Order: sequence, then C-alpha cells, then structure tokens
Amino acid sequence: MSWENNVRRVVPYVPGEQPKEQDIVKLNTNENPYAPSPMVTKALREMRARPLRLYPDPKADMLVSAIAKEYGLSNDMVFAGIGSDDVLAMLFMTFFNSAKPVLFPDITYSFYDVWAEMLRIPYETQPLDENFHIVPEDYMKENGGIVIANPNAPTGVAIPVATIEMIVKANPDSIIIVDEAYVDFGAESALPLVHKYDNVIITQTFSKSRSLAGLRIGYAMAAPGTIRYLNDVKYSFNSYTMNYPSIVLGTAALSDKEHFERTCAKVCATRKWVMKRFRDLGFKFEESSANFLFVTHPDVQARDIYDYLRANGVYVRWFDKPRIRNYLRITIGKDAQMDRLFECLEDMGIK
Ligand SMILES: *Cc1c(COP(=O)(O)O)cnc(C)c1O
Repeated sequence: MSWENNVRRVVPYVPGEQPKEQDIVKLNTNENPYAPSPMVTKALREMRARPLRLYPDPKADMLVSAIAKEYGLSNDMVFAGIGSDDVLAMLFMTFFNSAKPVLFPDITYSFYDVWAEMLRIPYETQPLDENFHIVPEDYMKENGGIVIANPNAPTGVAIPVATIEMIVKANPDSIIIVDEAYVDFGAESALPLVHKYDNVIITQTFSKSRSLAGLRIGYAMAAPGTIRYLNDVKYSFNSYTMNYPSIVLGTAALSDKEHFERTCAKVCATRKWVMKRFRDLGFKFEESSANFLFVTHPDVQARDIYDYLRANGVYVRWFDKPRIRNYLRITIGKDAQMDRLFECLEDMGIK
C-alpha cells in the first residue's frame, strides 16, 4: 500500500496557451480584444491598499447588488464567484448528487466532464446532430441534472430560449444550468426563466464580453431558494472567494453600459466580415452567436492550418478530440488581427 493508492486522480482541463512572446495574434482563448472600460482604469487608479488589511465582504454585496440591478433581480437571486468556472464547479457540487446521470452534449465546454469526474458525478453525453445542434428530445429522459452552454462552446451555435424552456418543462425534478458565457455577443438569454422556474440557473461571466478575464468574476442567477443552497455550499468551503479588487473593479465595469455595448457591437461587426472571408476561402461553419467561429476546410487539415498559423505567430485553438479534430476555434479579435490571420491563410495557399 502506498499513499498514492488514495490520491484523487483527475485528468485536468487543459486551458488554451498564454504565450509569453509579444507581437503574436492571440485568437485561442476567446478573450475580448478591447480594453476594459475606462471606469475600471479609473477605479484601479483610485484604489487604496489600506482596505486589503481586512477580509473582503464575504457576501460581495457591492458587486452582487450591481449585478442584481443590471439584470432587474433582487440581491438574493445573484451569486458571485471566481470566474464562472468557480461558480459552475460549485453548482455541480451543490445540485448534482443523484445516482442518475447528468446530461450534456458530447461537444461542449470541456470542463463539464472534468468536474463530473472530479466530483464523482455520473454523467452521460448526448451527441449533437451532424450540424452541431442539440437534439432536445435527448434531454427528456431520466437524469440527475442538465447543463447546456448557450451559445455552445466551441461551436458558437445558440438555441432559442423556447427550446430551453421546453427542456425545462420536461424536467421539473432536475436542475438545468444554462452557461451563458457568450450570450452578450448576440444570443437570447434564458434569464426570464428564473422567474418562472426555481430549477433553472443561469451563469454568466465578466471574462469575455466585459474584457475582464484577468479579474476572475462570474455569477449565477436563479430563484432565491436555489441561490441559498449554493451559498450554503460556498460558505462550507471558503467564505472569502471574491477579493476586494475584484469587487471594486467589477462594480466599476458594470457602471459603464455604453462601453460594454459598444465593444460587443464591434466584435459582432468584425465577426460579420470575418464570416464572409472564411466562406469565400471555402471554409465551412455554423452561424456563430459567440465571439469565435468554429471552422473546417474541405481540402486542408485543421491540424496543418493550426501548425502553420502558430509558426507564424497566430494562435488559434485546435482540439484533438473525436468529431472535431478537423475544426479550429478562432476568436474574433480586432480587424487588424483578423487581417493578419487571413494573410497567413493566403500565404499557406488557401485562396
Ligand atoms: C470561458 C468560459 C467559461 C468560464 O469563464 P470564466 O473566465 O471562468 O468566467 C465558462 N463556460 C464557457 C462555455 C466558457 O467558454
């Protein structure tokens, strides 16, 4: 016997690279290419070190209130955490305790199966159809919970809220998590459902649409009783998840709606012309409602494109996984970054 027999062995999630070189075009982790709001810069400049002596507010009241106000909710319907990854892991732990399997698509955010394995939650993936769309009927069988990323990652495909509501109605005894990490880039939010169903939980993040991946702020929105269960688990682990700078700077970011809307609109405008260029070059992809495209080319292997781009300082994401090995997930950057991507593709002979 060795202590190693008692190790909780996990195959960890692999995040996209964060290369150290300057002057690369980074289109591999769906960060926002635009700077955070000037209100964040201002709040950062005015921040004092002295409050760091104290523990932060365990309820993160200032930030929670700002989020609640933004979405027209009461404070007890909002939970803030260290990025939506932290919030989602906490949701899995709190709500997925059935012997029945949790259901999510075979192609989706690759953290879901990692958390399920880590927390020993039974799960069963449901295959997306050949166009990477959800088959709603697959989520209408016995289950211990459901997770749907909408828009989905890495495909960018969004489904209507009516479809989500249909799945919710068929599952009154399960928690349904809707991961809306990319919803601000043009999809319809399922948030109104939290007023009708106490088993629906919406998660969102400041990492993509609010240009604050480095701060680590995510949040869940649900009925007060549902949020209460989540808080009970959080306070059983760590009361002080949200640090003081995140609370202050996150609140500042929310106060600048104009910047938020303008930068999201810029990303969507770039996505529009980028889609046309990809189409002209013979790439195939589904309509994306996110800040990335998931593309494949009938004649050139995704792996070869990935390697060529990388050698030329353009980073995109390639997943060595069944069904999607011949696809690339490409973040929508600034226009000039996308120009450089297309120059590389042309240099490679894709014209
Ligand atoms: C980026 C992402 C998240 C997590 O983002 P955080 O930075 O932890 O808030 C969650 N779900 C999906 C689908 C994502 O792409």
